Amino acid sequence: MSATLLDGKVLGLRVEETLVERVAALKIKGVHPHLAVVLAGDDAASQVYVRNKQRACERCGIQSTRIDLPQDVSQEKLMQVVADLNGDDSIHGILVQSPTPDGTDEIAITEAINPTKDVDGFHPANLGRLVMGQSDGLLPCTPAGVMKIIEDAQIDLKGANALVIGRSRIVGMPLALLLAQKGIDATVTIAHSRTNDIENLCRNADLLVAAIGRPEIIEADWIKPGATVIDVGINRIEDKSSKSGSRLVGDVDSSAMEVAGYMTPVPGGVGPMTISMLMSNTVRAAEMKLH
Ligand code: NAP
Repeated sequence: MSATLLDGKVLGLRVEETLVERVAALKIKGVHPHLAVVLAGDDAASQVYVRNKQRACERCGIQSTRIDLPQDVSQEKLMQVVADLNGDDSIHGILVQSPTPDGTDEIAITEAINPTKDVDGFHPANLGRLVMGQSDGLLPCTPAGVMKIIEDAQIDLKGANALVIGRSRIVGMPLALLLAQKGIDATVTIAHSRTNDIENLCRNADLLVAAIGRPEIIEADWIKPGATVIDVGINRIEDKSSKSGSRLVGDVDSSAMEVAGYMTPVPGGVGPMTISMLMSNTVRAAEMKLH
C-alpha cells in the first residue's frame, strides 16, 4: 500500500484562486488589501521566506510593502515601526518576520500588533479565541494550513485519535486546539520532548502530526497502517548527491508513505499552505474592515 499524497502546493494555488476573486470584490468596494512585512536583520532563510510571501501577494493581487531594518535594530525602533503600521489605515496586515534579532523581545512585538492586523495569528487575543472555541478569526497560518489540508481531503476526525508531537505556540498548541474543537471532534494527545513511549502513542494515532524539527525521527514502523500523517517539520540535511550538498526532509521518514493512508510530502506539503493561509488572513483582515 502507498499513501495518497496530500499536495499542499496544488491546494495552496487553489486557495489563492479563490482569494483573487475576493480581492477583486474588495477593490470594487474601494478596499485594496495591503500586507506590511517587517524584516529585521540579514538571516538568509528569512530573506527567502519574505520573498516567497511577497510573490504570493503578487499572485493574489495583494499589495505588499517590505520594511527592512538592520540586524542591530533596537526594541524601541521595532515597536515604533509596529505602532506606525497599526496607525496606518491603508495597511490591513502586519507581519514581523521571525526570528527577530538577538536582544529584541519577539513576544512583546507580537503583543504590540493590533489583533485585527495580526495576520500571523500569534497575538494573545487571537490565540485566546481558539481556547474559547472561536475559529472564525485570524488563525495561526501553519495550523490553519494543516486543517485546510485535512478538510480538503475530506478526512473525518470525529472520535479519531489525533497525536500532535510538538507544543510550540506557533504550531503544536494551536493545532491541538483546532483539532479538538466542536465539529472536528478529534481526541487529541499532545506529545513533546519529555513524553514517554512516543512510539506507542504513534502506533495508536489515526492522525499523526509531527511538528518537532528533528530530521526523519518518526519511523515507518511507528505508523498505524492507513493513518493520516501530516509532517510539519522542515529540516535541512547534508546530501552529497545533491547539487547544493543538502536537501530538505521532514520529521517523518519518507518510507512511512508505504504504511500511511494519507501523507504530506516535505517539501511541498504544509509549507506552501502556510503561505496561502497568510494570504487568506490578509484578505480576511481587509474584509473585516468593511464590517
Ligand atoms: P519548536 O518551537 O522548536 O518546537 C518543537 C517541539 O518539538 C517542542 O514542543 C519540543 O518539545 C518538541 N520536541 C523536540 N524534540 C522532540 C523529541 N525528540 N520528541 C518529541 N518532541 C520533541 O518548533 P516549531 O516552531 O513548532 O517548529 C517545528 C518544526 O516545524 C520545525 O522543523 C520548523 O521548521 C517547522 N515549521 C514548519 C512550518 C511550515 O510552514 N511547514 C511552519 C513552522 C514551523 P519541548 O516543548 O519539550 O521542548
